[in-house]
Amino acid sequence: MSDEMNNTEKGGISVEIEHIFPIIKKWLYSEKEIFLREIVSNACDAVTKLKRLVSLGEAKDIDENYRITVTLDKEARTLTVSDNGIGMTEDEVRRYICQIALSGALEFIQKYEGSDEDAKNDGIIGHFGLGFYSAFMVSDTVDVITRSYTGESAVKWVCTEAGEYEITKDYYRAERGTDVVMHIMKDEDEFLDEYRIRGILEKYCSFMPVEIYLDVVKPEDEKKDDEKDSTAADEPKEKAEPKPINDIHPLWQKNPSECTDEEYAEFYRKVFNDYREPLFHIHLNADYPLNFKGILYFPRLAHEYDSLEGQVKLYYNQVFVADNIKEVIPEFLLMLKGVLDCPDLPLNVSRSYLQNSGYVAKISAHIVKKVADKLNSMFNNERESYEKLWDDLKTFVEYGCLRDHKFYERVKDSILYRTADSRFVTLPEYLEKAKDKHDKTVYYTADKTSQAQYIAMFESEGIEVVVLDKLIDTQFINVIEQENEGVKFVRIDADVASALKADGKAEENEKLAELFKEVSGNKDLKVSFELLKNDKIPAVLNISEQSRRMEDMMKMYRMAGNDGSDMKFPTDATLVVNAQSELIKRLADELESDADKAKKVAKQIYTLALLAQRQLTADELKDFLGESFDMLLNI
Ligand code: ADP
Repeated sequence: MSDEMNNTEKGGISVEIEHIFPIIKKWLYSEKEIFLREIVSNACDAVTKLKRLVSLGEAKDIDENYRITVTLDKEARTLTVSDNGIGMTEDEVRRYICQIALSGALEFIQKYEGSDEDAKNDGIIGHFGLGFYSAFMVSDTVDVITRSYTGESAVKWVCTEAGEYEITKDYYRAERGTDVVMHIMKDEDEFLDEYRIRGILEKYCSFMPVEIYLDVVKPEDEKKDDEKDSTAADEPKEKAEPKPINDIHPLWQKNPSECTDEEYAEFYRKVFNDYREPLFHIHLNADYPLNFKGILYFPRLAHEYDSLEGQVKLYYNQVFVADNIKEVIPEFLLMLKGVLDCPDLPLNVSRSYLQNSGYVAKISAHIVKKVADKLNSMFNNERESYEKLWDDLKTFVEYGCLRDHKFYERVKDSILYRTADSRFVTLPEYLEKAKDKHDKTVYYTADKTSQAQYIAMFESEGIEVVVLDKLIDTQFINVIEQENEGVKFVRIDADVASALKADGKAEENEKLAELFKEVSGNKDLKVSFELLKNDKIPAVLNISEQSRRMEDMMKMYRMAGNDGSDMKFPTDATLVVNAQSELIKRLADELESDADKAKKVAKQIYTLALLAQRQLTADELKDFLGESFDMLLNI
């Protein structure tokens, strides 16, 4: 007892600093679980430092079975992180734990007192040396029992949440290393739960470079039960070898040439719990002047906007920092899944730092370049398999082009268009073929089924039709038109291509035009007369590209939750009547002899043209069916 009295020295953390604990709790409240990452990564650092000394020959006779053990003792209400790293001498405890750590904390207080939100938005831990002290977010007392590799005797440091500490010299610790014993506070019982702790370790520590084991101390009564069990059994149960929580050699650290496809797939499954095969991956391995590694995967997307739920995990020297930091990963790449390890990036500093950092901008640009390189290399070297992936890649590439002009510039030659007959062409390939018949005009369909008649008309004249049937396509073709002077995208129901017209000029028929206007119920309908090569088709409906794009944009605007009900644009519709068609010729005669019959036929022709262009509304369909049945009766 007297011995311990002699060895024990009491101290109080100085006046300025006494505010630190309430503030730590207040500021860092939202991310409490981070304390475990901080304490375990300190333990990792302690091992790494010792390893370095060993490799420099400055530490000798070291047992190199390095490990970290996290021990959860629910009964004792403690969570302990033990390492067999470098340890600390008494002097070092005073310097590193009492002074350096707290000076970081002081800096923090001075900078942030009085500006709650800023401090919360910034990841404060680490940058201010608060790492160790974050243990006080969940503990009322923290013990540090440590023994330096130098052989100096161990010390025990005990600090309460009031900031009072006690140092006991010549304490007993069998081996070199450090135990940080956190006495969990009354209201923080979640941190005594095995699954919670395992979850936190898996989240932040899965790839830390020193093996981490979780050890759960059984309560006394369970221990007794176990003893009974083992005496009852004939043979003693074999104890399974404990497995570390983490993988100390994550795949991204390896040289890409040494990784197999199976390893990439396995890593993906493990990290993202996703059993769908990704489309492909990119192993990033930048050294100079940028220094970061990572693996990005292109997930297989089931739906157009599925992709937005990607996940890029950011690491700092194998320590998990955060998901999807949009300052580092360009927004359009956030749909990817992957890992990025940026040891040069002060990821614990403020968002505004990241936003304005030239270094971050360079990383981001490098990633964009690598992604574009990969797409281009697949396009150039394995076009067939690239085409097979295109349906999955399309949305991502288009979105990227909309978001980032540099990305567009890089990938523009690898953009494909699917044709209505399911081949893939690039824009130059399409235009080359179009040169004679429809120079610089790309005809497209937004719906292969409902626009089948138009497609057939175009294809029979040898005009290729591409399929652009996603919402994003409307915006995408705007970009392509801007970037390629003179190129126009025209939907096949917007315009009768000159290649579809026969030679000669059709005669206008004023009366017929009036009749069609009347039966359409649309006083703004334009009626024009043409000679179409296909004389089976009496009339087609054209909606001007301009007015339809406007409508599409309104649709998107409304889908985004805006109220656009008062914004209406007139639909610029033209009924192109084929003066060459037998039916139209007959109709013109009939108009003279039997006006009633002519009206019925005209209505039917108009509705069929409408039906070939889009789905009928409920009322239109009802009328159309009724009129068709009537007609059948008179056949
Ligand atoms: P940081 O890790 O950012 O330097 P911390 O507050 O987390 O700040 O730790 C302060 C210092 O305490 C560390 O730099 C290190 O010297 C020492 N330290 C903390 N944990 C350990 C440990 N497990 N083993 C050895 N030294 C440690």
